[in-house]
Amino acid sequence: MKAVRYYGIHDVRFEEIAKPEPAEGEVLIRVAYGGICGSDLHIYNRQMFIQNIPETMGHEFSGTVEAIGKGVTGEIKPGDKVTAVPMVTCGRCIGCRSGYPNTCDSLGFIGEVRPGGFAEYISMPAEDIIKIPSDGNLKDMVLAEPLAVALNICELAGLSHTDKKDRLAVIGAGPIGLLTLILARQYYGVRRVDVTGRSQFRLDLAKKLGACLASGSLPDGSFYETVVEAAGKKKTMEMAAKYAAPNGDIIIVSVFEDPFEFDFNSIVVRQLRLIGCSAYEKRHMEKAVEIIADGSVDLSGIITSTFRPEDCGEAFARASAKEKHDAKIVFDMQQL
Ligand SMILES: [Zn+2]
Ligand SMILES: [Zn+2]
Repeated sequence: MKAVRYYGIHDVRFEEIAKPEPAEGEVLIRVAYGGICGSDLHIYNRQMFIQNIPETMGHEFSGTVEAIGKGVTGEIKPGDKVTAVPMVTCGRCIGCRSGYPNTCDSLGFIGEVRPGGFAEYISMPAEDIIKIPSDGNLKDMVLAEPLAVALNICELAGLSHTDKKDRLAVIGAGPIGLLTLILARQYYGVRRVDVTGRSQFRLDLAKKLGACLASGSLPDGSFYETVVEAAGKKKTMEMAAKYAAPNGDIIIVSVFEDPFEFDFNSIVVRQLRLIGCSAYEKRHMEKAVEIIADGSVDLSGIITSTFRPEDCGEAFARASAKEKHDAKIVFDMQQL
């Protein structure tokens, strides 16, 4: 079969590798779409996270069940549309044992610690499979994984349908920031959501998706009950502390590439809460599939480019470009 594999910084190759067999307890999936995530760019540009070289990349994917391994029980059958929880966890550490596998000491993802989804086929443990309704759109469903992150952010921020928040700011207009905006506005009915980021393309998109203000900076003197930090820089972390209202929450979802000094008095004096967000739990992904399928949120506009996997070099270069002209870039694996 064909796969997109990582060989080193700025070196991804489309090549022939052996087709996997479903091991005991696993399900073999014919991949339909794969999405390039911010973490794939950390791998592509900085060689972060990745454990084996070469490795098949990708943890955001959707597809159909091709075959079932021995010992798989339950309702999964060939032809079912599916996606899967891509986290690889130890099952033994305190995080895993306390019911938060997303905080596992050795948390890894497929495409980093084992073969990922940018391939014709992938074999996944049956317990990680999430069924998609038969009329579900497989291209939209590739967004279930990043939408699960945004659902976790909103949950950690205490957003709810009944007790609506007034003001939320999103710092960083990448896919996670934009999906958080969509959920906050369309799903949780937050009255005002402002977005700041560097890319004019993404800010224009944020405006179309319901941002009240989308600009290179937040208005001076404004305050937000909740600030979502989704950019991962010293400057954006300082901005989060500056614009959080007294007694407000800062939800940090970024992976920071570089350490930096930070003035924690800015947190103390306004009594802010700093809340980290690590990926999501399986239930968030199930919920993401559900709300994409039932049309509770309109995600059109998030997938901005579709590439053939043989053009993976071009796709990664475009996704990494300083001047962004995309939100989410996906691979169409179907014609392989
Ligand atoms: Zn992702
Ligand atoms: Zn663990």
